[in-house]
Amino acid sequence: MLKRRDFLKTGALSALAPLSTLETGNLKKDETVQEPKRELPIVRETDVIVCGGGPAGIGAALSAARNGAKTTLIEVHGCLGGVWTASLLSNIIDHEGKPGIMKEIIDRLDATDAQYTAKKYDAERMKWTLEQLCREAGVEVRLHTRVTAAYKDKNSNIDYIATESFSGREAWKAKVFIDTTGNGELAARAGCGFEMGEPQTGRVQPMSLMVILSGLNEDDLVKAGYIKGYGKEGSPSEPGKKKLHAEILKAGIDASYTMPSFFSIRPDMVALMVNHQYGVSAANAGAISQATVEARNEVNKIIDGLRKLGGMWSNVRIVTTAAQIGIREGRRIHGLYTLTKEDLIRGATFEDGVCTVKFVVDIHALVKGEGGGYGSGGVKMKPYQIPLRSLIAKDVNNLMMAGRCISGDFYAHASYRVTGNAVPMGEAAGKVAAKAALTNRLPKEVAWGEV
Ligand SMILES: Cc1cc2nc3c(=O)[nH]c(=O)nc-3n(C[C@H](O)[C@H](O)[C@H](O)COP(=O)(O)OP(=O)(O)OC[C@H]3O[C@@H](n4cnc5c(N)ncnc54)[C@H](O)[C@@H]3O)c2cc1C
Repeated sequence: MLKRRDFLKTGALSALAPLSTLETGNLKKDETVQEPKRELPIVRETDVIVCGGGPAGIGAALSAARNGAKTTLIEVHGCLGGVWTASLLSNIIDHEGKPGIMKEIIDRLDATDAQYTAKKYDAERMKWTLEQLCREAGVEVRLHTRVTAAYKDKNSNIDYIATESFSGREAWKAKVFIDTTGNGELAARAGCGFEMGEPQTGRVQPMSLMVILSGLNEDDLVKAGYIKGYGKEGSPSEPGKKKLHAEILKAGIDASYTMPSFFSIRPDMVALMVNHQYGVSAANAGAISQATVEARNEVNKIIDGLRKLGGMWSNVRIVTTAAQIGIREGRRIHGLYTLTKEDLIRGATFEDGVCTVKFVVDIHALVKGEGGGYGSGGVKMKPYQIPLRSLIAKDVNNLMMAGRCISGDFYAHASYRVTGNAVPMGEAAGKVAAKAALTNRLPKEVAWGEV
């Protein structure tokens, strides 16, 4: 019988390797079973398949479809939006000045009253807005469906992927695939090499469970100094974060995150990011489950503790916690170019630059008590570009990436990871994938100037 560690020893992550071999966490069991061979129905044979319906996946699917490709978007949750919706983020960073689909989403949110300010939005309206955009563009959307495997032909092209859903196990074929799963799940299953975490230690950024609250309003938060300014001017302030942490300590809770932030998403609706779960691998389902339970326990205790303090907290209640704990960092898939911190420091531009990033390097504490909650890792960045080559997989020919899982180092990822960059990355990948599929070429054979 094969041992799980034998899979790991091979180094290469085979497409046939079970999920557990992709873990970086502790291996608890050594045995494996041989899954019997079976026939899978082919659901679709199409031009472009986008795996993951978060900000990057939305950009990719809309752009591939609008550029003439028959496009399918596969998403494991029951809504589109990824961290925007299933993780209740409520705040879009680094979208300013970005044209194309990012601007279109902001304008549409504004028009449908989903947008409280240029940055903050109502997650429920976001779900609806994204579904309507995909429908109008003719994207075939499959929700509640997880991509679980990828099988290649002898030329290192993905021939088909397998999914699991209410319909059981199914196969899907496309000319070009785009991995927008955030964690690089499709690419890892297709056997691509990847990095994860800080280079010296492998430590990853912590996860956070977002919360929507009732019983607090923007006016309370501004007057008490937790956020500065109303509406468009409103943002969490550093002294406000420290003050909130002090209140939580006063309520008797040793909070895991020292810089908790309120975001007012309507005058009478508030989102809160208040916890950190440290050292959790985005490739370890058991660890993510445990982190979710611990995080939900902590945020419930914090809100109960604050309510007991009385005063402005007297009526605070949790309306909902996110269905999906927010994952800041997963696999960074090897691409044709790897963005590095040196590129950020010199403000690199590229002939095939697809998007300009202005957001700083933002590394949340890797262990409890380290630094001041978050920091730049000593990297002073200048606005820089992401090249198309970082969106093209090195090890599999017909595969592109967009969003968190593109090819970059630990520090570059900590900057480009925000959603205002994920969307334009997706838009670029979608354009190139469509052109490649419609002209029977590989993504690397399409020049950026062509699209
Ligand atoms: C707590 C937290 C706070 C943050 N704060 C901000 C902020 O204020 N502003 C900001 O702009 N950014 C912020 N970020 C960063 C940003 O949210 C992410 O880096 C961003 O979501 C990247 O977008 P993405 O599309 O690559 O990934 P995601 O949003 O993670 O989307 C990936 C999608 O793929 C789906 N998926 C995953 N695996 C599979 C599979 N196997 N099969 C099918 N579907 C799959 C997921 O369900 C999800 O919908 C924050 C992140 C976290 C975690």
